[in-house]
Parts: sequence; structure tokens; C-alpha cells
Amino acid sequence: HAKKQGGNTYCFNTQSQNHDMERYQHMEHELRFALENDQFTIVYQPFIGLESEEVVGLESLLRWYSPYLGAVSPAEFIPLLEELGLIIPVGKWILKSVCQQLKEWQNEGIFLQRVSVNVSPVQLRNRDFVNDLKAILTETKIDPAYLDLELTEGTILNVSESAAVINDLQALGVNISIDDFGTGYSSLNYLKQLPINTLKIDKSFIHDLDFDDDVIVNTIINMGQNLNFTVLAEGIESYDQLAYLQNQNCHEGQGFYWSKPVNATAIPYLYNNNGQEQYGAPASKH
Ligand code: C2E
Ligand code: MG
Ligand code: MG
Ligand code: MG
Repeated sequence: HAKKQGGNTYCFNTQSQNHDMERYQHMEHELRFALENDQFTIVYQPFIGLESEEVVGLESLLRWYSPYLGAVSPAEFIPLLEELGLIIPVGKWILKSVCQQLKEWQNEGIFLQRVSVNVSPVQLRNRDFVNDLKAILTETKIDPAYLDLELTEGTILNVSESAAVINDLQALGVNISIDDFGTGYSSLNYLKQLPINTLKIDKSFIHDLDFDDDVIVNTIINMGQNLNFTVLAEGIESYDQLAYLQNQNCHEGQGFYWSKPVNATAIPYLYNNNGQEQYGAPASKH
């Protein structure tokens, strides 16, 4: 029988909401077994020095392949891991795996200034975090100077609460990056109060870059430089974006222009036999 369009629309929404709920419950169930069933992998995306266009480091990014759900985006499953408290064991597994992988690369003579790991606010608030990290560094024999922890502004929103642990991390010798910089709602005060090494400008600013004169991006770069931070632009996809950022003396970049996140086995191929990166002049000028 005929229904009015409004009725159909309502019906459709309810079904899609039910579908979302089912998917959510399915993910929750699957995630509980994902770690023990080896369903997580780690991929790596290069950081490029914008002046030299050489690989200077890598960001590690978590991937989940569920046999039932297929590949699920981190934007979908990371919040769920946090809610379920599973980000604590999974986060430890990530840190250890990345340190082990870094050791292998170092043994193969592949030089990287740093490899970064994203750290969730739930991990940072965990009282064992610093000691667990220390144990992992000792066990894998990694010099902490090569490890970089990426924290978002949201993670350090309460500066007085997070300062103690961030200072402990600095004392341990690891580097701190502010991820997705410019998208949080925190005051800028923490930039002077906390021991920060790198600002990663959020990719939304690079995506919307005003090539005539982007006052916001220029200002972030200048501020970062005046504070003696390394400034990295996330989400560089085009030569025009690269050229603009080079012109502003932004230090580093990351994005699909050079490489998507790739498996660890692909990393040695970013280098030739001299240990020099294959990236020379930009491949596609237009
Ligand atoms: P993020 O830390 O800001 O990571 C950068 C994201 O931008 C990655 O998405 C990467 O694939 C994507 N990306 C890199 N270059 C480009 C580009 O040129 N264009 C576009 N459009 N995107 C680019 P991914 O891997 O889907 O991760 C999304 C977010 O999930 C991450 O954002 C991070 O917040 C979180 N995440 C990923 N892995 C981990 C992890 O191991 N631990 C934690 N706690 N969070 C993670
Ligand atoms: Mg990150
Ligand atoms: Mg980011
Ligand atoms: Mg992000």
C-alpha cells in the first residue's frame, strides 16, 4: 500500500539506525578477539624534509582487518577500543611492535631520525603508561631519542593534569608531537608550558590552503619556528601545496603526494643502495 514520502523516510532512517547499531555491536564483539587473533597490523607513512625532500621519519598507523567486517577505518574502531578499555593492551602492542620494527630497520642500516606512535588520551591517563614504555624501550634496546609520541590537543586539554606525565616522557628521552594542530579548542598556553618537539598542522588546513596568501598557515609556521619546534604539514597531496609550504619554510611534510601509509616490508624500497631516498625532484609538476 502507498505511503507518504515522509513515512518512507522515517522508515528508512530507523532501518539505517538499526544497521548502525548492529554494526557497532558486531565490531565490539570482534574487537575483543582482534588482538589475540592477529587481526591488527601497523602501516607506516613517511615524513619528508621539505628542503631536501628526503625521508626523515615515519608515522605508524594502526590497521584492523576483520574477517567478518573487512577493513575498518581507525576513525571508527579507535574510539571503540578506547571505550572498551582495549586501547591499553592494544596500545602496548603497538609501541612494542613499532620499537621491534625500528630495531630491525636500524640493524639493516636504514636510518630514520624518528618513528612516531599515536597515543590516545586513555593511554596517557593510564598510570602505568610511562613505566610500560620504559620497559618496552629497554627490552627492544631502542634509544628513546628515535621515538616520537603524537598527542592531540584534546589529549592535553587539561594541562595541569597532563604536564606531569608529559614531563616524565621528556625525562625518558622520547619526543612529543602535537597532532592535528589547530583543530582543538585548547588555549595556546600549553605550547610554552610543555616540552614539545613538533607541531603537525592538521590536514584540513592544507586541504583548504589559500595559495594567494594563507594567513593562518603562515602564522602557525612562524609561531612554531619562533618556539623552536619542528613544523610538519599533514595531508600534502599536490605539488602546489608542497611548493607553497616550501616557500613558507615549513620544515617537514607528510601526505599522499609522496606515499600512502605502507607495510613495513615496503619501507626499505623508499631508499636506494646508497641509503639515499628515491625521492628527488617532485615527480609531477603542473
Ligand atoms: P592522524 O594521526 O592524524 O593520522 C593521519 C591520517 O591522515 C591517517 O589516517 C593517514 O592515512 C591520513 N593521511 C595521510 N596523508 C594523507 C593525505 O595526503 N590526504 C588525506 N586525505 N589523508 C592522509 P588513518 O590511518 O585513517 O588514521 C586516522 C586517525 O586514527 C589518525 O589520525 C589517528 O588519530 C588515529 N589512529 C591511527 N592509528 C592509530 C594508533 O596506532 N593509535 C591511536 N591511538 N590512534 C591511531
Ligand atoms: Mg598522528
Ligand atoms: Mg593528524
Ligand atoms: Mg587525525
